[in-house]
Amino acid sequence: MRLGQSIMDIIETIPALKQAVATCKQQGKTVALVPTMGALHAGHMALVNAAKANGHEVFVSIFVNPKQFGPNEDFGRYPRTFKKDCALAKAHQVHAIWAPAVEVMYPGGFATNIHVAQLGDGLCGAHRKGHFDGVATVVSKLLLQTGAEHAYFGEKDFQQLAIIRRMVEDLNIPCAVHNVPTVREEDGLALSSRNIYLSEEARGVAPRMYEILQSIASRITAGEKNLPLMLNNAKYALQRLGFSSIDYLEYVDAATLQPLSKRTPNSRLLIAAFLENTRLIDNIEVL
Ligand code: AMP
Repeated sequence: MRLGQSIMDIIETIPALKQAVATCKQQGKTVALVPTMGALHAGHMALVNAAKANGHEVFVSIFVNPKQFGPNEDFGRYPRTFKKDCALAKAHQVHAIWAPAVEVMYPGGFATNIHVAQLGDGLCGAHRKGHFDGVATVVSKLLLQTGAEHAYFGEKDFQQLAIIRRMVEDLNIPCAVHNVPTVREEDGLALSSRNIYLSEEARGVAPRMYEILQSIASRITAGEKNLPLMLNNAKYALQRLGFSSIDYLEYVDAATLQPLSKRTPNSRLLIAAFLENTRLIDNIEVL
């Protein structure tokens, strides 16, 4: 039961979620969903703020989605800070937290998988098999469960954003997808729930990833011709800094995510690399 504007609902069942959304809509409000895996930080709050600025009632989902983790990935140790998350969300006037248990999201017999071809096949999709199927499956469920008219996603996960846009269009899900620029620490490191895995030493090195992206981006803008050589040199530079393995560093078309061999309008650099055992991703627009 919602007692007043200062109370933020914490919802754990689908009927209660439907009721909360229906009540907002009956009051003539529009509902926006911000899907997250929790361990909330200022990057997530930028999505909340963007949705609030557009006048929506904001529902934040917190669900560490087992389907998007590979067998050797960090599902078990992924940070779970639910109480802190609720306090932060409440301080940002979030209307409700949607926090389903795994059995609510995937009851016995659950058998559906959503695969977005092509956009999901390269980059992170090539290195994290099944990851984007897990993302697409859970996001489609979250959008349908809530019936949110709007959903907000970060450009930090640029490939994910492209896949979700494609899926929403392909499945005629009645939801407008919005994107929000990456929020960074003062030293340039993109905020991420996984940054807490980094040792002090690695935390010192991590911002170099964005620095290198910025430097490659400006060289492409300035007319650098030999892109393969430049990208290779950047990979070596990262390895020398301590990045143990570079999954990819690619210059791609921002809509198709296909690799480009020369400067093209609407393009982007995307990277994924390991520092210690932590996989960091980032991306930058190339002007
Ligand atoms: P996650 O909880 O990491 O799955 O992220 C939930 C949402 O927050 C996704 O749409 C992310 O792209 C977005 N997000 C995560 N980190 C940032 C960031 N540093 N800046 C902007 N959005 C972010």
